[in-house]
Amino acid sequence: MSNGDCIFCQIAAGDAPANKIYEDDQVVAVLDINPVNPGHTLIIPKEHSVNILDAKDSTLMAMIAATKTVAKAVLTAFDEYDAFNLESNNGRIAGQIIPHTHWHIVPRKADDGFKHWPGKPYEEGQAEEIADKIKSQI
Ligand code: 5GP
Ligand code: ZN
Repeated sequence: MSNGDCIFCQIAAGDAPANKIYEDDQVVAVLDINPVNPGHTLIIPKEHSVNILDAKDSTLMAMIAATKTVAKAVLTAFDEYDAFNLESNNGRIAGQIIPHTHWHIVPRKADDGFKHWPGKPYEEGQAEEIADKIKSQI
């Protein structure tokens, strides 16, 4: 099902312009209009879902298969890249701007300024408590 108001549905259907670099029956890959580094690519399923939690497993499997193909191509197309981050923002507070499932292939070069998230260690005993709390919901 596609959503006519959704820009990524429009891009996936070919109804809005994009620099498309890959397409199969379930997925398109297009250049992000505002890249971290040139070649930063979005993997977008053709079927509308809001994020990973409501996307079908079969859709996500098609996305990850396409990701391997596209990421290899991005890395081999440019001498300066030999690594990439795969990033998925799920929910507005996590930074998701476009409410259509997608993730980012961000090609990386040394000293490009892209920062990983800062981590802080658990306090004594806290990790066990947190793990139990999550496990109880699975
Ligand atoms: P997110 O929702 O994962 O935070 O980010 C959405 C990404 O989509 C952003 O990196 C933004 O630059 C990109 N984006 C937003 N609108 C368009 C568009 O119309 N075309 C393309 N190619 N990328 C877009
Ligand atoms: Zn959509």
